[in-house]
Amino acid sequence: MPTTSTRFTHEKAPCGQFVDGERLQDEDRSEQCLVTDESFYACGCTSERHEYHDGSVALKITRHDGHILIDELDVGS
Ligand SMILES: [Zn+2]
Repeated sequence: MPTTSTRFTHEKAPCGQFVDGERLQDEDRSEQCLVTDESFYACGCTSERHEYHDGSVALKITRHDGHILIDELDVGS
């Protein structure tokens, strides 16, 4: 499946710094995951969001030192 890659500049990373980075968006029609939305910041922070067929949304934000800031799963109603 095609992955959309977008570069961004001077965005606020999860650690609070303003850095450049890249965002990948992937619409995957496979069994598990419907939409993947990931951001990679120049400082090393990452943000991942996954939407599943059943409406649940997983969000994981990792700071550049490896500390996980958010790791949660929202189960759709
Ligand atoms: Zn960072």
